[in-house]
Amino acid sequence: MSKIEMSKKDGKRSDKAQQVVEGFTGKLNRQAVLSFGTCVHCGLCADSCHYYLATGDPKMTPAYKADQVRHLYKKHVDWMGRVAPGWVGGSDLQTDEDLDKMKDVVFGSCTMCRRCTVNCPFGVDKALMMRFMRGHLTRAGVAPQGVLDVNKDQWEIGNQMGVSQEDYLETLEWLQDELRAEVEDDTAEIPIDKEGANIVFVVNPREIKYAPLSLLAAAKIFYVAGENWTMPSVGWDNTNFGLFSGLDDLGGHMGKLAFDQAEKLGVQKMVISECGHGFRSTKWESPNWAKMDLEFPIESFLETMVDYVNTGRISLDPSLNPDPVTYHDPCNLSRSSGMTEEPRFLLKRSCMDFREMYPNRADSFCCSGGGGAMSMSEYAPRRLEVAKVKADQIKETGAKAVATACHNCVDGLADLIKHYKINIPVKNVCEFVADAIVMPAVEKPVEVPAVEVFAEKTVLVVDDEPDVVTFLTTFLQDQGFKTLSARDGDEGMQLAKEHRPDLITLDVTMPGKSGISVYNDLRKDPELDHIPVFIITGVVEFRQLMYHRNMEAPEGYMEKPINNDVLLMQIRRILGAEVKVAS
Ligand code: SF4
Ligand code: SF4
Repeated sequence: MSKIEMSKKDGKRSDKAQQVVEGFTGKLNRQAVLSFGTCVHCGLCADSCHYYLATGDPKMTPAYKADQVRHLYKKHVDWMGRVAPGWVGGSDLQTDEDLDKMKDVVFGSCTMCRRCTVNCPFGVDKALMMRFMRGHLTRAGVAPQGVLDVNKDQWEIGNQMGVSQEDYLETLEWLQDELRAEVEDDTAEIPIDKEGANIVFVVNPREIKYAPLSLLAAAKIFYVAGENWTMPSVGWDNTNFGLFSGLDDLGGHMGKLAFDQAEKLGVQKMVISECGHGFRSTKWESPNWAKMDLEFPIESFLETMVDYVNTGRISLDPSLNPDPVTYHDPCNLSRSSGMTEEPRFLLKRSCMDFREMYPNRADSFCCSGGGGAMSMSEYAPRRLEVAKVKADQIKETGAKAVATACHNCVDGLADLIKHYKINIPVKNVCEFVADAIVMPAVEKPVEVPAVEVFAEKTVLVVDDEPDVVTFLTTFLQDQGFKTLSARDGDEGMQLAKEHRPDLITLDVTMPGKSGISVYNDLRKDPELDHIPVFIITGVVEFRQLMYHRNMEAPEGYMEKPINNDVLLMQIRRILGAEVKVAS
């Protein structure tokens, strides 16, 4: 009988702790043993971690955090530790409280950015150790609720935001209308399941659900380049929570969904939209997790765009992006995938004033939203505190916009920019490229003014901030809407009952009745449950809505500050309005 079984029999270890310890003492690969077994506590990695730099807390140094996991290895795996655990610093997990403390370390105190790894003379990979422990905790159900929810959606629905296939296809159809308006060509397409296409393009579900501008930008770039491309109807999510939650089987499941569809369509290559962990997991990890020998290459959309510029398939005019722009290197692209020059190539040709932030490339600091942190709302205050390191870097550049090549980083940066009041936009590289693209000359179609499109539609704006109400009502009236406004939830409900608007925009945090309770009341009322609701809210609540599944999804979400273009696009989608009609 092993020591683990004996401890169980003695009743010292909780059932969950037993499960974690049993899993932990299973098969370890060479990389893991090297990292678990090697650390001379020289402290050289301390200054590499944004958690330590921002807090000065010794418990936030990479070596200390790694030791919390390493102690278990020392006790149960290291041969000396099995004989004399105290001698080598071995310790155990016994109670559910021990598991919660471990959860706080591996999920809440490390974004698995690997900056400490490249700053360790032995290359000790703390992120690998964290992922290893995350996997065993997740299997025991000891993980942030957002991670568990996203895992479930990837297993059951095939994408991390629980988007149904119907909604996905409808969104692509709507985006195709937007593309046609953008390029002023009624034949422009977002093809779906086109067999024999050169490229199958897989995206981050954030692009489908909340941030369509990057997908629209990509579609525009494919259109101008004359690419033979397609979106897949299934297996379209390039993200993979198997990487963050430590579940190789989930990683394989997500990889297989995408790879099977690409093979079925017979495409020449798979292109990953700008997503750091999506690229790393799909290109480098998923073929192994899925045990598949792929017949096609995988590349980042950054590489595709560089090729289009180099071969003259697209031309860029940097004067179309005159403001200073800096670039944030996503950890999974720069440090873990070596992709540092492609975004710079593109930004230098798309923007008049490109400015580096320092340190950069493989030495870049994490945006603080890596490792799945954006889905872990319980750690948001700590995430924002340690984001100060990145906020200071951005401020020093004096840039008026931040570019990055990762949707997760866009969210992480947007949150810190708001928190530290930097007040500049964050966009993916492809959006800067699309804005700089020189369009081929076409005959201009006639546009139907927006005011005609939305005439007779009424929007009720419910928000306690007078500035937001003024902004939204003015903007919506400019688009042709009639508007009503309410400053709290009770007034909002009353106006909804009296006027039955075509759409309600709803803040979440308001004095008195909260937006969530208004939303629930609307959904329960048979007279009002058909009215689409667009939630416009602050950062933390928004992340909870994105990643937690404890309520039916509203028709639209947006975080403040409000992006007019996205708001209008989403309203057109919700109301099924034609954007512009060419005659
Ligand atoms: S730099 Fe490497 S050896 Fe030194 S404390 Fe950090 S992990 Fe340990
Ligand atoms: S991987 Fe990144 S967040 Fe984690 S300990 Fe190392 S430097 Fe800190």
